[in-house]
Amino acid sequence: MSKENILIINCGSSSLKFSVINPRDGDEKISGVAERLSTPEASVRWTFQGNKKMAEIPSANHFKVFSKLMDLLGETCLFDTIEGIGHRVVHGGETFKESCVITDDVIQGIEACIHLAPLHNPAHLIGIRTAIEYFPSLKQIAVFDTSFHQTMPEHAYIYAVPYEYYEEHGLRRYGMHGTSYRYVSAKAAEMLGLELSDSAILVAHLGNGASAAAVLNGESVDTTMGLTPLEGLVMGTRSGSLDPNVFSFLNKTYGYTLEEITDILHKQSGLLGISGLQNDCRVIEKAAAEGNRRAQLALDVFCYVLAKHLAGLFVALGRIDALVFTGGIGENSGLIRKKVLALMGVFDFYISDELNEKLRFGNEGVITSTDSTVAMVIATNEELMIAQDTAVLIS
Ligand code: ADP
Repeated sequence: MSKENILIINCGSSSLKFSVINPRDGDEKISGVAERLSTPEASVRWTFQGNKKMAEIPSANHFKVFSKLMDLLGETCLFDTIEGIGHRVVHGGETFKESCVITDDVIQGIEACIHLAPLHNPAHLIGIRTAIEYFPSLKQIAVFDTSFHQTMPEHAYIYAVPYEYYEEHGLRRYGMHGTSYRYVSAKAAEMLGLELSDSAILVAHLGNGASAAAVLNGESVDTTMGLTPLEGLVMGTRSGSLDPNVFSFLNKTYGYTLEEITDILHKQSGLLGISGLQNDCRVIEKAAAEGNRRAQLALDVFCYVLAKHLAGLFVALGRIDALVFTGGIGENSGLIRKKVLALMGVFDFYISDELNEKLRFGNEGVITSTDSTVAMVIATNEELMIAQDTAVLIS
C-alpha cells in the first residue's frame, strides 16, 4: 500500500478533530471529531466513504481518543497509507514564521507561547506528544495559525501601550486564521488569473470565529484579530473590538471578576449576546426574517462592523483586485454578503443578485457585476493547506 496520505490533528482542550487527506488531490479519506473529552458524555463522530458513524467513549481523554483513532485507521485500511502527521497549532508567537518539522526545540517553542494562547497551545502539545508516542516512525509537522501574519509591518502590529510590554512579553497583534488566508488568497489569484506576487486581496473569513485580512502580493499586511482572537469583528459569541473600559464598567456595575468578564466577552457576546437567541447565523437570519428585532439588530451590527473593518483594511492594501468571502457564513450567507457589499458602495462594489444567490454549499466564483470591484466566494480548506505543508516538509 503506498504511503500517500497525511493525518491531520487539531487538538482542542476538550475536543480532537482528525482527518486523513491526500495532499496531491485533496481527497479526504476520513474525517471526524471527538468531543466533550474527559467527561462522561465523551463521544467520537466520523465520516468514512460517505457513511457517518458515532461511538460513545465515556470519560475518554485525548490519549484514549488516539487509541480509538488507531482502531479506526486499522479498520479502514488507512493506517499504512499515512506518510506524515500535520498538527494545527494556534499560536506560534514571533518564533514560528512558517510551518516546521516538530523537534524538541519546536515543542519548547510552542510551550514558550502558552502565555499567548493558554487554552489552545497546551492542548496542541498533548496532541503532538501523544501522536509521537503512537506514530514514532512518522515525521510530525506543526502548522501555525499566526505564522502567515508574521509579515505584518511593525506599525500594523504594535499596540499604542508602553513599548516595554512588547519587548518583555510579546504584547502585540498576531492575528489568526492564517492558514485559511494563505489558501484563499492563493486560490483567488489563481481564479482571477493573477500572479500571487502581484495581487491585492482582501479576505473576510466568517465562521463562528471571524476575522478579515489584507493580503498584498501573497503576504499578510494587516488583519483584524490581535493578541488573541477576541479583537476585531463581531463573531458568534465573541464581542470583537470594544472600548477597553468595558472591563472596569462591568466590574464596577455588576461586580464581575476579570475571569467572568473575559468569559462574557468570549462566550456570551457577539450574535448570541445581541440577539439573545443563538450564535448560529442561520438561526439569527431566520428569526430576523420572522420579524425578531434583536436578531435583525445582531445582523445589522455584524455587517456594519465587518464593512467598517474591511474599509479600514483598504488602507493597508492600497489597491484591490478582489474581496473574498469565506468560512461557513462567508461561503453560504448571500444575505450577509449583500448587506456588506451595499455598505461598501463607496469602493464601487455592485452585487449581482443572481450570482450571489447561486453561490453557497461549496460553490465558488465572482458575485459582482462586470463594472464592479470584484467580490467573490471561495470555500476555505485549511486541512488541505496543512496536508500540503506536511507533504512538502517531510519529503
Ligand atoms: P468554525 O469557525 O466553527 O469553523 P464555520 O466556518 O463552520 O465555523 O462556520 C459556522 C457558521 O457558518 C455558523 O454561524 C453557521 O450558522 C454559518 N452558516 C453555515 N451555513 C449557513 C447558511 N446557509 N447561511 C448562513 N450561515 C450559515
